[in-house]
Amino acid sequence: MRCLEVHDQMHLDRLLWCDRCRSLAHNRAGWWGWVGGWAFGLGVAAFIWITIRPSDLVIGGWFGTVAMAIWLGAKAGREIAYGVMRFSNHPAADAVPPRLGGEIDPPEAV
Ligand SMILES: [Zn+2]
Repeated sequence: MRCLEVHDQMHLDRLLWCDRCRSLAHNRAGWWGWVGGWAFGLGVAAFIWITIRPSDLVIGGWFGTVAMAIWLGAKAGREIAYGVMRFSNHPAADAVPPRLGGEIDPPEAV
C-alpha cells in the first residue's frame, strides 16, 4: 500500500497501488523523464558542437536532431523512472504527511 488509503480491491494492481498512486507515479516519472531527456539532449548538443562544429547553415538540421534526442531521452527516462519506482515500491511513499525535506504534494482534490 503506497498511500495507506483504503481502496476497493478492484482498483488496486498487484503492487497494491491504487489508480491515484499510479497516476501520481506516472506524473513524477514523466517529470524525471524530461529532466533526463534534457540532460541527454544537452549532451548530444554539446557532442555535436564540439566534434562536428556545424556551420550556421546546417544548424537547423542539427537542432532537429537534438530535439529528437531530447524526446527520445524523455521517453526512455520516463520508463526507467517509472520502473525504478515500481521496483523500489516503498510502502506509504505517498502517504500523508510526506517525509521531511521531500517534495510536498498538493492536497488531493476528491
Ligand atoms: Zn494509493
